[in-house]
Amino acid sequence: MFEMKPLPYAPGALGEYMSARTLEFHYGKHYKTYVDTLNKLIAGTQFDHLPLEEIIQKTYGKAEYQAIFNNAGQVYNHEMFWNSMTPNGGGAPQGRLAEKIQEAFGSFEKFKEEFKNAAITQFGSGWAWLAVDGGKLKIIKTANGDTPIARGVRPLLNLDVWEHAYYLDYQNRRADFAENFLQHLVKWPESD
Ligand code: MN
Repeated sequence: MFEMKPLPYAPGALGEYMSARTLEFHYGKHYKTYVDTLNKLIAGTQFDHLPLEEIIQKTYGKAEYQAIFNNAGQVYNHEMFWNSMTPNGGGAPQGRLAEKIQEAFGSFEKFKEEFKNAAITQFGSGWAWLAVDGGKLKIIKTANGDTPIARGVRPLLNLDVWEHAYYLDYQNRRADFAENFLQHLVKWPESD
């Protein structure tokens, strides 16, 4: 049985950039449904009692386990997403991560452009990610419940670009949502 992980801030703490109403629905309805559905799907199966990452890796690419993969991926992705934001977040990272971003993308501005582009061009539902692949920082986009850890790629942070993540606050303006995420919400990881 998986339990819902607590939201690391109050639903209203992200201000105008992500409203309490959006987070209440997103955390309390969408995320809850993924956790509940995953628990139902794995009860009494070989996946019961396995860690989440192992369930994701063992069900990846297997048609008969697609529903388990989708829900396990979405539980993982949302738990990373809650922790990819913080009240008064955003702006450029400091220290080693700043250097690595400079190395990988040329500049922080270039990184922002590429990350926003991934968020905007993910067709339909999915996620934009900053991840470490083979020791290098990369920007990745995934569809639906897919997640980089299925393929052994280690994500550092993500942005949910399913419409349920932004529609109440931004309607169709996904680009504005991605911009505000980087300017005002993103929580850079402490170490990479
Ligand atoms: Mn979501």
